[in-house]
Amino acid sequence: MNRELRLETLAVHAGAEPDAATGAVTPPIHLSTTFERDPDGSYPKGFVYSRTDNPNRRALEAALAALEGGEAAACFASGSAAVASVLRTLRPGDHVLAPDDLYHGVRKLLQQVFVPWGLAVSFADLSDTAAAARALRPNTRLIWVETPSNPLLKLTDIGALAALARDVGALLVCDATWTPPPVTRALTLGAHLVVHSTTKYLAGHSDVLGGAVVAARADGTFERLRAVQNLEGAVPSPFDCWLVLRSLRTLPYRMRAHCDNAARVAAFLAGHARVASVHYPGLASHPAHALAARQMAYPGGMLSFRVRGGEAAAMAVAARVRLFTRGTSLGGVESLIEHRASIEGPESTTPRDLLRVSVGLEHPDDLIEDLEQAMAEDLT
Ligand SMILES: *Cc1c(COP(=O)(O)O)cnc(C)c1O
Repeated sequence: MNRELRLETLAVHAGAEPDAATGAVTPPIHLSTTFERDPDGSYPKGFVYSRTDNPNRRALEAALAALEGGEAAACFASGSAAVASVLRTLRPGDHVLAPDDLYHGVRKLLQQVFVPWGLAVSFADLSDTAAAARALRPNTRLIWVETPSNPLLKLTDIGALAALARDVGALLVCDATWTPPPVTRALTLGAHLVVHSTTKYLAGHSDVLGGAVVAARADGTFERLRAVQNLEGAVPSPFDCWLVLRSLRTLPYRMRAHCDNAARVAAFLAGHARVASVHYPGLASHPAHALAARQMAYPGGMLSFRVRGGEAAAMAVAARVRLFTRGTSLGGVESLIEHRASIEGPESTTPRDLLRVSVGLEHPDDLIEDLEQAMAEDLT
């Protein structure tokens, strides 16, 4: 696929060819787990066994590589499997530097699986580049970045951390689940790998679990990742690949609408008397608003806010919404609201009065009116 094409065009055409056998414009779903060998023992079509490669997965991987501007991509059965596979490319004894505010599943995966496996892991405020530099060790091999962070929406300067990573010979890996193209394209800012939970915006309809890693270069690290994908086998089903690829076709348009709606909701919340603070990079009050303008083409579809009156008041707002669905996850067409501390578990350091919102594709005025009625009465 020609990389000169604009994102909307790539999203429609990347990984898409009419089916050679039938002319079908949308791709067939290849459920076969095994592929025929020629009499001479070769595999003339290039497919052997579906754990190793499958036509639907290959098409999705090609499309994701094109959208992120990478040379190669590998898809997984979930975002968590994609994260674990990246960490598997390291060796026991290697050090991983991770952000202090971070998707709780990745924090637990590091602490509960990869520390016992032999990785050294430390957490620092990576939104402060100087603090990140101080936290590096001689054996740091990977810096994990999540920007905006979850759930406080702290921003990290990807270019600055890419330079730090280069200096110490570490990989810079961005969990770009919250910022798929066209919001941020971290590979173009110097990241080596981007990771996605395709469960979220890429699939976009809250109906499929998946993950992906896109690599700037199809180098030795990517070859190790491919080996992990094939040997450990946490691969997505052909149908799941087909669903995610179908969703990618509308990604740029969906993302712009998510971001426009979130900006409207954030502005409303910022002006509401019951709201103590709003965390959203598109607001001029965000401490890294200038970095957001440089690094994000759009301010994103996620935000969080703190409700005056503490946990009970926050729970009351979540209880009174009618249009928002109370639930975890993000990136679907429907707006979700969540009391974050209680899903993160007992070690959570998230403020108890914080609600996280995934702004969907409803009309923003309906969302605002719903929040308005939810906060209209006494919240205690
Ligand atoms: C959801 C999520 C993951 C994990 O992905 P799954 O598909 O649920 O396994 C990783 N990182 C971020 C930022 C997420 O939101």
